[in-house]
Amino acid sequence: MVWEISLTVALALLAVAGLHLWWRAKFRTVQARLEREIQSEIEKLQHAQQRASLQIQQQQEALFNSMAEGLLLLDRENKIQLANRAFSDLFGVSTDIRGRSIMEALRLHELAELVQFLGTARQVVDVELRLLPPNERWLQVNGSALFDPAKQRQGTILVFHDLTRLKQLERTRQEFVANVSHELRTPLSLIKGYVETLLDGAKDNPEVAAKFLQTIDRNAERLKLLIEDLLTISELESGRLKLNLQPVSLRPLVEKVIGDFKSRAEAKQVTLLDEVADVRVRADPSRLEQVLCNLIDNAIKYGRTYGTVSVRTRPVNGKQIEVAIADDGPGIPPESLERIFERFYRVDKARSREQGGTGLGLSIVKHIVQNHGGKTWAKSESGRGSVFYFTVPQDSSETQPALAA
Ligand code: ADP
Repeated sequence: MVWEISLTVALALLAVAGLHLWWRAKFRTVQARLEREIQSEIEKLQHAQQRASLQIQQQQEALFNSMAEGLLLLDRENKIQLANRAFSDLFGVSTDIRGRSIMEALRLHELAELVQFLGTARQVVDVELRLLPPNERWLQVNGSALFDPAKQRQGTILVFHDLTRLKQLERTRQEFVANVSHELRTPLSLIKGYVETLLDGAKDNPEVAAKFLQTIDRNAERLKLLIEDLLTISELESGRLKLNLQPVSLRPLVEKVIGDFKSRAEAKQVTLLDEVADVRVRADPSRLEQVLCNLIDNAIKYGRTYGTVSVRTRPVNGKQIEVAIADDGPGIPPESLERIFERFYRVDKARSREQGGTGLGLSIVKHIVQNHGGKTWAKSESGRGSVFYFTVPQDSSETQPALAA
C-alpha cells in the first residue's frame, strides 16, 4: 500500500516537474518572441525618428538654400556649422567648409574680428563689409550670438545681404550727376565769359562782337541739344516713352535721312551710299528716324574726309531686319568698343565736343532699339572703319506702311 502511494506521489511529482519544464520552455519561447517583437518595434520607431529628423534637416536645408541672403551658423567654438547656397555664391566657396574657422575657410580678417566681437556682445550687430576684387562685393552683415534657455551661448548666426547692385546704381547715379553738371558747366561758363567780355567793351568792336556772339550762339545750341538729349534719355529710361508702332517702309525713310545729311556730307566730301532693300519694319517712324540720324551723323562726324558712309539692310531669322551703317574712318579701339553705348562715354572727348557731340547719342540709339525689341552693337578695326548694327522687327501685316516722319 505504502509502496503504491509512494509511486503515485512520485509520478505526480514527475508530472508536475514535467509540466513545469514544459511551461518554462513555452514561457521562454513566448518571451523570446515578445522580445523580438518589441525589439523590432523599437527599431521601427528609431527608423521613423531618423527619417523624420532627416526630413526636418532636409527641409531646413532646402529653406536655408532658398534664401536670397547668405546664412552662416557657427558653433560655440566659432567653427562653421552651416553655410547656405547664397553664402557660398557670395563668397565664391566651392568646397565643404563645415568644421573650419572663418580664417581657415575665408581668410577674411574683418569677418573673423566681427565673430570674435559677437562672442562677447549681447546685441545684434549691423556692419557693412567690402570684399576686394576680383570678386568685389558690398555686403551688409547682421550678426548675433545664439543663447539657449539657460542663457548659455550656443553659437553665432550671421546673415549677409548683397548690396553690390545698390552700390553700383548709387555710383552710376553720382557719375551721371557729375557728368551732367560738367557738360552743362562748360558751355555755360563759355557763354558767361564771352558776355562779360562783350559788356566790358568788346561790343563796341563790331567784328569782335560778331565773332563772340557766334560762339555764344554755338554754345547755347550745345546746351539746347544736351538738354533735349537728357530729356529723351530720361523718358526712355523711365519707361514713359510710348512708341507709336506701325508698318514702316525702310527705304524711303533712309532716303529722307540721307537727303537731310547731304550738305553735311558734301562739306566733308563724304559719299553717302544707300543700299537699303525694299523692306517693311514694325517701328515708331520718328524714333527710327532718330536712330538712323544719330548713326549716320556719327559716321560722317567720326569718319574720314573724302570717305564713304553706307547704309545696308539684311533679313535675319525671317523675323528681324538688320540695319548696318558703315564708315571707313579711323575706327574705334577694342577697349572702347564695349563702352561706347554708355552715357557720356567718348573715345576722344575733345573731338566729340569740337563736333558738337553730347556723348548721349549712342545711348539714346541703344534705348530706342531696345524699346522696339531689337539689339544694337558695333564692330570696328583700328584704321579700317566702324560698322554700327541694329535690328528691328520685320512687318508682315497687310496694313499700308506709314510715310517717313
Ligand atoms: P557723341 O555725342 O560724342 O557723338 P555718341 O554717344 O553718339 O556721342 O558716341 C559716343 C562716342 O563713340 C563718340 O564720342 C565717338 O568717340 C565714338 N563713335 C561713335 N560713332 C563712331 C564712329 N562711326 N567712328 C568712330 N567713333 C565713333
